[in-house]
Amino acid sequence: MPDATCSIEGCEKRSFQRGWCPMHYTRYVRHGDPLKLTQVSPNATLAERLAFTGWTLIVRRPELGFCWEWKGRRNADGYGWTSQPGPVKNLLAHRAAYIEWVGPIPDGRVIVRHRCDNPPCINPAHLVLGADSDNSHDALDRLRVANGERAGSAKLTDAQVAEIRTRYAAGGVSQRALAAEYGVWHQHISRLTRFQKRKTPTNPRI
Ligand SMILES: [Zn+2]
Ligand SMILES: [Zn+2]
Repeated sequence: MPDATCSIEGCEKRSFQRGWCPMHYTRYVRHGDPLKLTQVSPNATLAERLAFTGWTLIVRRPELGFCWEWKGRRNADGYGWTSQPGPVKNLLAHRAAYIEWVGPIPDGRVIVRHRCDNPPCINPAHLVLGADSDNSHDALDRLRVANGERAGSAKLTDAQVAEIRTRYAAGGVSQRALAAEYGVWHQHISRLTRFQKRKTPTNPRI
């Protein structure tokens, strides 16, 4: 029989087994699918990385429904590992899941806890922000404060504050003109542009 090429479209390598080249045949043996990718692209987003590794649905705490157990590698405590683009490569899978499906994790000392007590679970409905020390209790308490645009006295949204700072820094518009336009006191614009007010972004609702 003459040499044939791999039957996967676009693959020019020589056929080895079942009409596939060694690489596609190996993928078939390992994953049951010759087209299954074995490495996530370095440019993949967090959502793509989570989907790439995937999870298994398992009921551990019936009152909470399904746990989504991470299929990828785990650390010694049973938490899943994934990776992220950018300088910090490793990322705990449940933290990645929280960031992707719930929102940013606001403070480094704040941990993401499992309501289901199942470390490899990445079901966002089972993940809550928590504290692992008194320090992080304080951090959480600070985060619960309705600051910024959520403060009762706030007249400007975060977007407006950013806009005011950008426009003033770009020049060509006075603080008084901005004050008139946004309906606030001139002193308020002055404090905003000097970062004496609204220094930190609005806390997320947690
Ligand atoms: Zn091939
Ligand atoms: Zn769970």
